[in-house]
Amino acid sequence: MTKWLGAVLLSVLLLATAACANTSTQENNQSKQESKTNETKEKTTAVETGNKSLSNIKVLATGGTIAGASDSDTDTTGYKSGSLGIDKVIASVPQLKNIANVTGEQVANVGSENVDNALLLKLAKRVNQLLNDDQVDGIVVTHGTDTLEETAYFLHLVVKSDKPVVVVGSMRPASAISADGPLNLYHAVKIASTKEAKGKGVMVTLNDRIASARFITKTNTTTTDSFKSLEQGYIGEIAGEVVSFYNEPTRKHTTESEFDVSKIKELPQVDILYGYQNDQKYVYDAAVKAGAKGIVVAAAGNGTMSTEAIKGATDAVKKDVVIVRSSRAGNGIVTHEKMDDEHHFVSSDSLNPQKARILLMLALTKTKNPDKVQTYYEQY
Ligand code: ASP
Repeated sequence: MTKWLGAVLLSVLLLATAACANTSTQENNQSKQESKTNETKEKTTAVETGNKSLSNIKVLATGGTIAGASDSDTDTTGYKSGSLGIDKVIASVPQLKNIANVTGEQVANVGSENVDNALLLKLAKRVNQLLNDDQVDGIVVTHGTDTLEETAYFLHLVVKSDKPVVVVGSMRPASAISADGPLNLYHAVKIASTKEAKGKGVMVTLNDRIASARFITKTNTTTTDSFKSLEQGYIGEIAGEVVSFYNEPTRKHTTESEFDVSKIKELPQVDILYGYQNDQKYVYDAAVKAGAKGIVVAAAGNGTMSTEAIKGATDAVKKDVVIVRSSRAGNGIVTHEKMDDEHHFVSSDSLNPQKARILLMLALTKTKNPDKVQTYYEQY
């Protein structure tokens, strides 16, 4: 009897254990199932983030006020440029998720006064590499506004793709009341993911405008409407969610450009010398002595130069330095004049001195012949 009772108890115990084990297996299976569902959920979320119906836009960050911050929200001038990393900048505009699959990459984090030729080359090469990838539909470059037009024009001349490239900055740091960076970035991504933006060359957006890199310039030290394209106008506008294009850049750029930096390790040194009353020849001599291969003169009016400046410039030409006459006037064309033929100078067309410098660096990668260089100023 005791044996029988023992056997029953043992069976009950075994059954209970089996039931228990079964339940826990079921629970295990269930939790495995759940975790599978979660994984799927996560994957689905990942796929949603990489939404196939949206464009893939890469944001290359270089620094500037758009990544600038200060302790005070009313401090719109004494902040530090390039304080925030690109992930923080992107995270501050969660609405980007609705318009594109955006990923960021930090190429540099400097104030744009410190963008140098090495950084220009690094950025251009990376842009070309990314645009070569079928997965990338467009590029946004975040940049300080002080020299933004120089980088934008450089990219306009050396990018080898018709996919949209938009350079964006902001006049107010991220920490300021009414910072303009988040909306400018949103606009840049919106433009870069717009079909009509293809083939327009490198574009610049701030303050709701879309400009060609060829014509845009910074015109005011602090105001949010600083970037203007006064004579040639903007190529488009962005209002709410609507991106509208009205004009095309007419000069050669991107896929039509003959400038190729893929194998270039260093750009030739080109300096800008200002023209002013009582300017002296020695500044030209000094630039040539220091190794300038080209000099852009930010001359007065329609590129007029003093007798002293002409002496300095003609001596430079004798040493194979290319002289380009541009204007400090801020607008208008520097016309090709007799003095250019006489002294073998080049006139800059409507390029301001800082953009004339960009084109001269690239021209010098091809030729030192002033006549040939002149043709570039007529085409680009
Ligand atoms: N100094 C800053 C820069 O160019 C100004 C700006 O971004 O607005 O980086």
